[in-house]
Amino acid sequence: MGQSLGWGLTAPTLVLNKSWVPISTTTVRHALNLVIKDSARLIQPDTYQVHDFESWCTLSPLPEGGAIRTPNLIIRLPEVIVLMAYNKIPGNKVPFSRRNVHRRDGNLCQYCGRHVHHSEMTIDHVVPRSVGGKNTWENCVIACRRCNNAKGDKALSECGLRLLRRPTQPDWSPCITTRKGQRCQSWRGFVSEKQWAMGFGG
Ligand SMILES: [Zn+2]
Repeated sequence: MGQSLGWGLTAPTLVLNKSWVPISTTTVRHALNLVIKDSARLIQPDTYQVHDFESWCTLSPLPEGGAIRTPNLIIRLPEVIVLMAYNKIPGNKVPFSRRNVHRRDGNLCQYCGRHVHHSEMTIDHVVPRSVGGKNTWENCVIACRRCNNAKGDKALSECGLRLLRRPTQPDWSPCITTRKGQRCQSWRGFVSEKQWAMGFGG
């Protein structure tokens, strides 16, 4: 059975720009508004077929998918839309935060490569703050307690530790992140492995 109307309209929809590059997520309600205004089209994720609202309404809901029920219609729950005009990739930078450093480094200590549990994860300043190291993407990495203690206030060259990789500003788009669990498996056909692994909160 399909979901109730209320759930359906707040379910997440992936938004692609005109070139089919994923740029954000929105609610089904907003997605359908864009389609009805002719600013976007609906995509059938399994076939990549593009529909306007009218032709979408001729599709029957998938057995495992949700539906929107109106008094006269049962509409298949959209999961992906493509914008008609917008062709840019929003240039917003991923905000620097502790949580985003965790995500960039995949919860791996950037010195020993060990998977670090949240409770013992620390942010290490590659150039120590005591000598002017800043809170930036290029200077902050995830470290386990042991490596962070071993490094202390020393410079990299003095402590005998090596970075797994040079820390940089991540290139994933912050606007594709969603609340935990708020993503559809069908989006996998539209986003890169990296975006899926890093940007989709699920
Ligand atoms: Zn470590």
